[in-house]
Amino acid sequence: EIGVKDIGKDFGGFTALHDISLTIGRGEFLTLLGPSGSGKTTFLMLLAGFEDPSRGRMTLDGTDMTHVPAERRGFGMVFQGYALFPHMTVEQNIAFPLKVQKWAASRIRSRVAEIIEMVGLAGHERKRPDALSGGQQQRVALARALASEPPVMLLDEPFSALDKNLRGQMQDEVRRLHRETGTTFVFVTHDQSEALALSSRVAIFERGRLQQIAPPRDVYERPQNRFVAEFLGDIN
Ligand code: ATP
Repeated sequence: EIGVKDIGKDFGGFTALHDISLTIGRGEFLTLLGPSGSGKTTFLMLLAGFEDPSRGRMTLDGTDMTHVPAERRGFGMVFQGYALFPHMTVEQNIAFPLKVQKWAASRIRSRVAEIIEMVGLAGHERKRPDALSGGQQQRVALARALASEPPVMLLDEPFSALDKNLRGQMQDEVRRLHRETGTTFVFVTHDQSEALALSSRVAIFERGRLQQIAPPRDVYERPQNRFVAEFLGDIN
């Protein structure tokens, strides 16, 4: 479980996030929604440990992680652009974080084989990223992030560069992986239908404030305020 208590973030004199408090349950799929500039990516960066909060506290299963650096949180991350290592094969890309974590070679081999199977990349092990389609590259990025069985996966618009078809396929993939692994997912998207399809709850941000957090159906049927109603109405 992730606990976020009165977390705020300033950039110089500008407040990007105002005192956000929420709890993300283990195994939950939480999607962050909101207009451009509302603070979604900043919030994900704070969860990841790539940015240090200006105020407030964060916990993981009750243990303080407010100032724990990203590499020691051990979260899986897929950010826009999904930079794979171009000179490495699919296998080598997925094995890389496990090597960094000093897993034994035999354990790496079996885990890489297992995860390749899980994300449907069997037969592509020896290819380099430029020999793969966009969707396959996304799968490699997901596999690489999932390989070490992180307790939490953070995804920032991972499918924004994909066409509609591939996007649907990847959504199915993520939904299945979520179900199978029981990992907690926090996901940023601009796409409301994506949020509806995937999330156990959605968190709606506006200008650095959390306006509502609830299951998708609730925010549609019972928007907490005018902003939420108009925001959801607008893009539909
Ligand atoms: P988008 O949907 O466009 O990605 P977002 O909701 O993810 O937007 P953020 O990227 O979190 O929004 O940005 C929130 C606000 O914080 C914006 O006004 C942005 O300009 C500002 N901001 C973000 N990062 C920095 C930074 N490193 N330095 C200064 N301002 C920043």
